[in-house]
Amino acid sequence: MHDDLNDWAMATLAVRAGQVRTPEHEHAEPIFPTSSYVFDSAAQAAARFSGDEPGNIYSRFTNPTVRTFEQRLAAMEGGECCVATSSGMAAILSTCMGLLQSGDHIVSSNAIFGTSVILFNKFMSPFGVETSYAPLIDLDAWRKAIKPNTRFLFLETPSNPLTEVADIAALAALAHEHDCLLVVDNCLCTPALQQPLKLGADIVIHSATKYIDGQGRCIGGAVVGNKELVGEKVFGFLRTAGPTMSPFNAWVFLKGLETLSIRMQAHSHNALALAKFLQQNDNVTAVHFPGLETHPQHDLACIQQSDFGGVLSFEVKGGKEAAWKVIDATRLLSITANLGDAKTTITHPATTTHGRLTDEERAQAGISDGLIRVAVGLEDIEDIKADLGRGLV
Ligand SMILES: *Cc1c(COP(=O)(O)O)cnc(C)c1O
Repeated sequence: MHDDLNDWAMATLAVRAGQVRTPEHEHAEPIFPTSSYVFDSAAQAAARFSGDEPGNIYSRFTNPTVRTFEQRLAAMEGGECCVATSSGMAAILSTCMGLLQSGDHIVSSNAIFGTSVILFNKFMSPFGVETSYAPLIDLDAWRKAIKPNTRFLFLETPSNPLTEVADIAALAALAHEHDCLLVVDNCLCTPALQQPLKLGADIVIHSATKYIDGQGRCIGGAVVGNKELVGEKVFGFLRTAGPTMSPFNAWVFLKGLETLSIRMQAHSHNALALAKFLQQNDNVTAVHFPGLETHPQHDLACIQQSDFGGVLSFEVKGGKEAAWKVIDATRLLSITANLGDAKTTITHPATTTHGRLTDEERAQAGISDGLIRVAVGLEDIEDIKADLGRGLV
């Protein structure tokens, strides 16, 4: 079956890749809730522990359900290896711990998930790993921020909540010119819409909690890349330190992957319709969505992504008061900062996800008081429009 992996299209990989049927001939992927594995003999145990013989030893290292998820996601991203983790943040931490050492330097986009910034600034810096920040779409600024000890460039594209789109191929070329790795957090697009490794990135990171689950149930993450970086170095940290994915969560994510492509198309379809609807409202001063022809990187998004995703943001006249009015007038949408759910979510970044920044930092990040972010779900688009429209009159 695995010989077919190279020929199969994304939708087929999403349903079939990684499954190894047991002697029970089950059709669906089984869950293996076991902490350890039994050996045929003392000699086999010794061979497994020494690494001479491949196979399971202990579920902090490997588990068959988790492995099926890893192989399926690796196939969908076009990567050699995947390591599943207990959360998206554990994926980023494991990447740092597996690949960096004291004295190394990261250049990161300044428009990344807030907790990633805290991880770099507060928890990596005491171990001698410094991080500089560059505006996502300013290639010159990235170039200038690179130092002799820079080990990786780190970004998310499109950014959240302003949906700026970075040129992955250009940044990969820049990274490689300077002997650095390009690490892309592909949470917002997923491999269904964007495959950073095929554009030259070295490592892809996921919060599986978002679209891979797709229904807001489990916390998990993943790191995808080549054998040396991910299969040995990141995996080496994971099996030692233990931020491992549980087999139960892996099973939920496997089921999520099976419908990922059609869900991402449906999210994208609803988000584009909502963006166009918002653009026509007199109380809306700006709509940020890469699918709009007015978006500054629309052409790049058309080349780099197969669709535009489910996250958009927009600005209303009247600042915070008006934004809160729109949010509080909703009856269908969920007021929560999560994203990647079948349920549409709405949040006010200035007072939630970006609330701990100073006014100046917030202004620099482009987060105005009137900005609202919507992660568009799978409800009927007319109901979503009506719910948002209620506070926009
Ligand atoms: C949510 C998120 C993370 C962190 O993932 P968890 O699963 O919550 O640990 C990292 N990056 C991005 C872009 C996210 O949206």
